[in-house]
Amino acid sequence: MQTQAAKKRDCGSCSLCCKLLPVAALYKPQNEWCKHCVPGKGCASYRLRPKACRDFSCLWLTEDFLDDSWKPSNSKFVMMWEFEEKSLTIVTDPKLPNAWKAEPYYTALMALCEKHLAEDRLVMLMTGEKRYVLLPDGLTYVCTAADKFTWAVTKSETKTGPHYHVEFQAVADEKTAAAAPAPAEKLSFNMPN
Ligand code: SF4
Ligand code: SF4
Repeated sequence: MQTQAAKKRDCGSCSLCCKLLPVAALYKPQNEWCKHCVPGKGCASYRLRPKACRDFSCLWLTEDFLDDSWKPSNSKFVMMWEFEEKSLTIVTDPKLPNAWKAEPYYTALMALCEKHLAEDRLVMLMTGEKRYVLLPDGLTYVCTAADKFTWAVTKSETKTGPHYHVEFQAVADEKTAAAAPAPAEKLSFNMPN
């Protein structure tokens, strides 16, 4: 779980992050309900919950532009910032991995992809162990959810519209000094008209 901006809403009956996100301090894996969670009611260990849980806010809690249809208990996916707010990341529920493709989500997410690319930011999708970059012309697989990397976006104008080039750079694991995995696909594509 990640640190987030100030909350503007309350979780209410939603507890979806307590299933979809891992919590290292609790040895809680991704996509399994936390043993302290009472789905629909909240955290049975609220006062003693770990710092990662205290610090976490999904985007629906913090972003005004997301109305109640984006509340994770309604949308069936969780959105969060990652990579120092350079990636808006959608975390899917394995039971409903394509919930983000329904409307009003899909059209809005495609528009966010385009807006973010212009700001050197990305929209990503984490589903199980896989991480994808979501691009206006379709999904692109990059690496596993655990891999670390950075990226740079370059834009050029062409006769058929804007052309984007995204180059990924793998980052080695500091703890193990292991060689960096290779997420470094180079994505190059034209914005669909
Ligand atoms: S997914 Fe968001 S709204 Fe739902 S419990 Fe987690 S932080 Fe609260
Ligand atoms: S400790 Fe509480 S807040 Fe943290 S994952 Fe478990 S149920 Fe959710």
